[in-house]
Amino acid sequence: MIEARPNQAVGLSEPANSVNRGAVESRLDPISGNWTVFAPNRVQRPEEFVTQQDFAGKQIECPFCPGNEATTPAPVWIGKIGEDDTSLAIVDPVAANVAEDDWSVRVVPNKFPAVNGCTVSAASHREPPLFQRRPISGGHEVIIESRSHVESLSQLDLSETQLVFNALRDRIQHWRKVPGIAYVSAFKNAGARAGASLRHTHSQLIATDRIPTAIQQAVDRMTRHRATSGCCLHCDLIRAELKARERVIWRDDRLVAYCPFSSHLPMLVRVTTLEHQPCFEDLDNRTLESTSRLVRRLVSWLESIRPGTAYNFCLYTKPPGTDDSPDSYHWCLEIFPRMTQIAGFEWGSQCTINPILPELAAAKFRACARAEDPRIMLS
Ligand SMILES: [Zn+2]
Ligand SMILES: [Zn+2]
Repeated sequence: MIEARPNQAVGLSEPANSVNRGAVESRLDPISGNWTVFAPNRVQRPEEFVTQQDFAGKQIECPFCPGNEATTPAPVWIGKIGEDDTSLAIVDPVAANVAEDDWSVRVVPNKFPAVNGCTVSAASHREPPLFQRRPISGGHEVIIESRSHVESLSQLDLSETQLVFNALRDRIQHWRKVPGIAYVSAFKNAGARAGASLRHTHSQLIATDRIPTAIQQAVDRMTRHRATSGCCLHCDLIRAELKARERVIWRDDRLVAYCPFSSHLPMLVRVTTLEHQPCFEDLDNRTLESTSRLVRRLVSWLESIRPGTAYNFCLYTKPPGTDDSPDSYHWCLEIFPRMTQIAGFEWGSQCTINPILPELAAAKFRACARAEDPRIMLS
């Protein structure tokens, strides 16, 4: 029985008539403190993995393949590989007069965005305190990573991979300058189990005027660590992992890749710079190129350990809306295969069960690295 508040009857009232059933909005769960984004338009997305036919029985053509450019919104970024297969050029699609199909990697606004177009949202009108909702604005873009209809980052040429990371850097730089943007998420879903609705290899970027609760909590933890220890939490973790050695997969003069001590997912790998660097989008060209090569290698090692696996990567960079000192945040990218389903205990407790120790995961990755190049001495 619902507990009635003093002097208040419990009953049903008419539904609020202010709901716009097409718009994206977020709503607050007062118990968990989390905001959920409602994006009703996204049920219209083509689901290539579910069926190769649309509702009228027509074969679905891949909207990301060359020749089908008209089926996506106009590009906001174009990268081209020169005829020598190595020289790269970034083309301004607005200023330059480029043919529609003249691209190697292209970035387009998502046709079915998870956020409203970029008008910084006004403060929401007065809502009952238990039914708080607010519009969520920003941008949602798709990075089409290749002209080839391939499904994984590991199938790209090195030049294509490099352009993908150039695109991520440029578009994050763009969004962090847009007034009101507080958070930028870049990520990849490869395979149906990883949340992809289309096979053609692509990654995505969502910029919003709100920082998600979990991200803000992580920022706060890093800020507290800096305040109490005088050091960056990530830099301290890197030092500790390098000293412990057993979870480190890769280390060169710029980058480190390791399976974190308390990895919440099996086979998760974290990549970051050895030097303190708050923002991925501020990486110099050489570090960016090294990062693109390492991520491609990690994906190919992952696929040799678990052939055909679905996987995600998530890129964490200092949210533009945080006002803490840049000394406390440190960018990273995490790659993980989709090996386990989130089951009842995880949903109920928000605590994951990881069946693979990170020490074992790191040993498997190191074995792949050594098979590729026996000079790699990490053990
Ligand atoms: Zn395609
Ligand atoms: Zn750091």
